[in-house]
Amino acid sequence: MVPTREALVAAFAEAGHELWLAGGLVRDAFRDAPPEERPAAAKPDADYATSALPDECERIARELGTTVTTIGQRFGTTGVLLDEGWAEITTFRGDSYTAGSRWPDVTFGSSIDEDLARRDFTVNAMARHTVTGELRDPFGGRDDIERGLLRAPGDPNTRFAEDPLRILRGVRFVSQLGFAIEPETQAAMAASAELLGTLSQERVTAEIERLLLGEHPEAGLEALREIGGVPHVLPELAAMPGCEQNRFHRFDVWGHTTATVQAIATDRESRSLRRWAALLHDLGKPPVRHVKKNGEWGFYRHEIVGAEMAEALTERLLLGKREGGLLALLVRRHMDRPDPDDGRLVRRFMRRLDGHWRDLLALKRADNASHTYDDNEYHDRLEAACERVEAEEAAMLRAESPLDGRELMALLGREPGPWIARIKERLSTLVLDGELAPGDKEEAARIARRMGGTAALLAENEEGS
Ligand code: ATP
Ligand code: MG
Repeated sequence: MVPTREALVAAFAEAGHELWLAGGLVRDAFRDAPPEERPAAAKPDADYATSALPDECERIARELGTTVTTIGQRFGTTGVLLDEGWAEITTFRGDSYTAGSRWPDVTFGSSIDEDLARRDFTVNAMARHTVTGELRDPFGGRDDIERGLLRAPGDPNTRFAEDPLRILRGVRFVSQLGFAIEPETQAAMAASAELLGTLSQERVTAEIERLLLGEHPEAGLEALREIGGVPHVLPELAAMPGCEQNRFHRFDVWGHTTATVQAIATDRESRSLRRWAALLHDLGKPPVRHVKKNGEWGFYRHEIVGAEMAEALTERLLLGKREGGLLALLVRRHMDRPDPDDGRLVRRFMRRLDGHWRDLLALKRADNASHTYDDNEYHDRLEAACERVEAEEAAMLRAESPLDGRELMALLGREPGPWIARIKERLSTLVLDGELAPGDKEEAARIARRMGGTAALLAENEEGS
C-alpha cells in the first residue's frame, strides 16, 4: 500500500529528523489561487526540506515500502511516492561543506533557516514544520505575497549569478502567479541575463513551457524582454520588439505576439500547443517586412517563412518531432481564410490541418484579439461550417480513395509504381471535393481507367487550394 503523508511525517519524527513542508505548497496556501490556474498535467509535487542526509532519507523512505527515486540524490533530493502524489525530500542546503559528502556540487546545511536563505524568491523561502505546524518566514515572504512581489532573499546579484536558472524561474512565476518583480531583483536579473546561455536547453525549454502555461503569459514574456532575456533564450524572437506594423495592428510584432499568447484560453486541453503556436505564429514577420505600394508595412508570405523558422526553433528547443511539425503547420496555415459558404474550400481547409482545425481556429481568434478590426463574425461562421462538415460530411472529409493499390493494379493490369499514389491522390481529392461519392468503386474505376495513360498521369499536377 502507498503510504500517506502522515506516515512519512511520523517516520522522520521517529528517526529524530526535522521535516518541513516548503516551496510551492506553502506559498500557494497563502494565495487564493483558483484551482484551474494549474495545468491539469502539472499536479505540483510536495517539496520537503529535512535535516536528514540523502542516504538516511532513502533508508526511511524504503522502510515505508513505497516507490523511491534517487535520480535527484546528487542534489540531495529523494523522491517518495505517497498516496497523494510525489514528495520531493531535500536535505537542508547550506554553505558549509559536509565532510564525507558524495555530492561535491551541493553542500548541506544544519537548519531550516540556512536552507531558506538559499532559495530563489522570498515567497518560496517559507517552510512549515510538519509536526508542530510552525511557520518559518525569515525574509518576509508572506508580506511579498500580499504585495504580489517577487524578491530575491539576500543579495540579489549573488543569487542570480550563482544560479541563472532562477532568472527564468522568476519570469515563469510572473506568469504563474501574476506577481511583479521587485526593482532591485529585476536589475540583478538583467545583470546576469547573459548567463542564461550557460543553462542546459532542457531546463530552459521547461521553464518557457511553464511560463506559457501560466495565467499571465503576456506579463511573463514582457518581464523576460525587460530583463534582456529574449536574445539569450528565444533569439529567433529577438527582432520582434520594435518591429512596427500597419494600421490593422495596435502593437509592434512583439506586443501583438504576447497579446496573442495571452488571448489563448487557459481552460483547454491543447493549451500548450496553442500557446506555443501563438508565440511563434508571426515569427516570419520581421524577416519579410517590406514597404508596400501604398506606403504601409507589408508582411507578404510571412506565414511561409515563419513555418520554416518555427520548425528550426522547435528542433532547437527539443520540443519533439510531432509537436514541432504541428506547430509549423499551424504557423503555416494561420492566414488561411476559406469562404465558410463554400463546402469544398472548408473541407480542403480542414483536411490540410490534419485534425487540428480547432487549434487553428483558436489561434486565429487569439490573433485577431489584438487587431484593430473585429473578425469574430467570420470565425463564428467558419467554426459553424467546420462543425457541420464534421457532423454531416465525415466520409468526404476522410477523403479515402475508393480503390486501393491492389485493386488499381488489377484494374489497369500494371506493375506497382508511383502511378498508384498519383491516381489514389486524385481519387481522394475528388472525394474531398464532393465530385466522387465516398466508396463509389464503379465511378472510381471509370476515372482511373481514363487516367491510366502515362501522359495523363504526368499532367496530373493540379492539386492545391
Ligand atoms: P511549483 O508550484 O511550480 O511547483 P515551486 O515553487 O514549488 O513551484 P519547485 O521547482 O517545485 O517550485 O521548487 C520547490 C522549491 O525549491 C521552490 O519553491 C524554491 O524554494 C526552491 N528552488 C527550486 N529551484 C530553485 C533554484 N534554482 N534556486 C533556489 N531555490 C530553488
Ligand atoms: Mg513545487
